[in-house]
Amino acid sequence: GATIGILGGGQLGRMLALAAARLGLRTHVFDPVADGPAQQVCDAATIAAYDDAEALAAFGAAVDVITYEFENIPTAALDILEGLRPVHPGRKALAVSQDRLTEKQFLNQLGLVTAPFHDVAGPDDLTAALAAVGAPAILKTRRFGYDGKGQARIMADGDAQAALDSLKGAPAILEGFVDFSHEVSVIGARGLDGSVACFDPGENLHEDGILRTTTVPARLTPSQRTDAVLLAARILNALDYVGVMGVELFVTKAGLVVNEIAPRVHNSGHWTQNACTVDQFEQHIRAVAGWPLGDGARHADAVMENLIGDDADRWLALAGETGTAVHLYGKAEARTGRKMGHVNRVTPLR
Ligand code: ATP
Ligand code: MG
Ligand code: MG
Repeated sequence: GATIGILGGGQLGRMLALAAARLGLRTHVFDPVADGPAQQVCDAATIAAYDDAEALAAFGAAVDVITYEFENIPTAALDILEGLRPVHPGRKALAVSQDRLTEKQFLNQLGLVTAPFHDVAGPDDLTAALAAVGAPAILKTRRFGYDGKGQARIMADGDAQAALDSLKGAPAILEGFVDFSHEVSVIGARGLDGSVACFDPGENLHEDGILRTTTVPARLTPSQRTDAVLLAARILNALDYVGVMGVELFVTKAGLVVNEIAPRVHNSGHWTQNACTVDQFEQHIRAVAGWPLGDGARHADAVMENLIGDDADRWLALAGETGTAVHLYGKAEARTGRKMGHVNRVTPLR
């Protein structure tokens, strides 16, 4: 069978590798750090930095197709890999989603609504941006932010300097506060043949900027649900996308507002592992391997709860619960805010 190259050795890479193994495919993980969650379950691993051209070339030569579990792959590494093997999802999706500014511009060009935003390259820009967007607002680094890191809230004009200082000079955007009732996400997939399939939207609850739970079904009217799925499909098609994407949405009185997109499997799609015939990880592997997309229909209601830091100490009790599937990532150290695993509590549809 074919070998799937996976850039990134975290839990998403691990669950991709497990899904690939189930389909009879091999996986080769590339990551700078040894013994990560994905390397524990893959067939082969390369431990090297993303600027190690020789290691990248050897990795590319050893696999049939390349995918990734995170969007911050350096451009120079991509240049090398793209010259060797197909990389899915492709360059367009990465370029757009690596940078919050280009991401929001792209979404607006598609006719989708985002939070009002303004480029902030320095202190003068922030004053202008705040005047344009108005407080309250959120200053976010353009690149590398996740789990709410690289963000500072500006409740009043007086907070502006402290917010700017906290980002230590990183290029940023200022986003106006979206007055949402709740957050949902669509996990969508697009195959090599251009076919699109979306999982049922999930409702996401965040705590301290980190995803806490995803509940399916989400509270959405039938027309909101249709809107959510159609806009995700629009994004996938516009990017000529191959693979699974997470689309985070705010639900507001005026309609759906796109928060951000992730060109990869997504934490808010973990519920699919125990509530769908084909889950997001298998769907992604199918897409990048050129298989037909699978049946993502939901056969159960589900609540996914992340096990963060010490939460994972409860694993034994959780494992004894009826209707609960425990997923642990094999991380040795339970640091504060670190995602150690998750549980899916499912109730079959009747
Ligand atoms: P992730 O881990 O999902 O990649 P992230 O660090 O990229 O997160 P965002 O998704 O931009 O961060 O923001 C984290 C959370 O902060 C959002 O899910 C939402 O709850 C809140 N938030 C972000 N932007 C806004 C906004 N413009 N208005 C209101 N709330 C916001
Ligand atoms: Mg993000
Ligand atoms: Mg987010």
